[in-house]
Amino acid sequence: MNDLQLDDFKTDENAAMVLLVDDQAMIGEAVRRGLANEENIDFHFCADPHQAIAHAVRIKPTVILQDLVMPGLDGLSLVREYRNHPATKDIPIIVLSTKEDPLIKSAAFAAGANDYLVKLPDNIELVARIRYHSRSYMTLLQRDAAYRALRVSQQQLLDTNLVLQRLMNSDGLTGLSNRRHFDEYMELEWRRSLREQSQLSLLMIDVDYFKAYNDSFGHLEGDEALRKVAAAIKDAGSRPSDLPARYGGEEFSLVLPNTSPGGARLVAEKLRQTVAALKIPHNSPGEGSSLTVSIGLSTIIPKAGSNCRELISAADKGLYSAKKNGRNQVGVA
Ligand code: GH3
Ligand code: MG
Ligand code: MG
Repeated sequence: MNDLQLDDFKTDENAAMVLLVDDQAMIGEAVRRGLANEENIDFHFCADPHQAIAHAVRIKPTVILQDLVMPGLDGLSLVREYRNHPATKDIPIIVLSTKEDPLIKSAAFAAGANDYLVKLPDNIELVARIRYHSRSYMTLLQRDAAYRALRVSQQQLLDTNLVLQRLMNSDGLTGLSNRRHFDEYMELEWRRSLREQSQLSLLMIDVDYFKAYNDSFGHLEGDEALRKVAAAIKDAGSRPSDLPARYGGEEFSLVLPNTSPGGARLVAEKLRQTVAALKIPHNSPGEGSSLTVSIGLSTIIPKAGSNCRELISAADKGLYSAKKNGRNQVGVA
């Protein structure tokens, strides 16, 4: 928990704020005098029961002293009203009654009162009960604030973990998945395809004559070109399960779960054309060339006891033949 949130519940739990609701000014005066010399007890008096809720909402008492018999409004209904109002529902209520009557007492507790005193109570007892109820209310508020702060920091932790997870899985230069995430994903999809006996396709994509590009235009331009190629690869996979990744250096990969050789070939050919259409100027293989990619592709339905390295190595073979046959093309293992 951080300091800022701790401030939310740094309150004096010994301080009490008393609201007395009673139609008789004389009672108000008597209680005021009784509490006058008490340290840390603030006293408010409300003689109009119709104003009681509004008064309580405004001053936020830690204890309400509530008279039961008032003209025009029954004290017990008022107790129920406090309990139904979000701002007063937890504030301790001490009912002040004229009689020590078990029936009235039980009705008061049923309505939501926390305590019952006969008017006018002995001052020592009144102060002791005010302090007791006030302190337990303050503790309740502090506990609620602490829970709220805890929930906030738990949420922050979850958010931070999400950001971390994303950072851990992504390549800094291109924003595609990095090699670590690619390896994890391939492993998962290989096992899924094995279970479902479905076709798993993989494209291995390598930028043509990229060493020459760096040598001619510099590494910063080279980085920029890699970002553009990466963006094209990202757009090439249209399903949520397709995973574009930077395999390493100027080599990329695109995992295509549940994809037939024909489907993968279509994706690969479209990607090859998209990169060529970017018309990133290059001087290899000759002056006036554009940057291109070679793509190797392979599709496998995994067999039991096999390993996803098979698929990577097959796609690599396809890439090798695409290079050997003149680059800027798709090779199939
Ligand atoms: P080929 O057509 O056969 O693929 O030739 P190539 O020059 O592309 O292949 P080679 O493997 O010889 O060179 C790859 C180059 O990619 C060399 C390396 O400097 C460059 N490279 C790898 N990673 C990065 C990078 O992050 N940024 C930049 N600017 N260049 C990179
Ligand atoms: Mg290359
Ligand atoms: Mg290479």
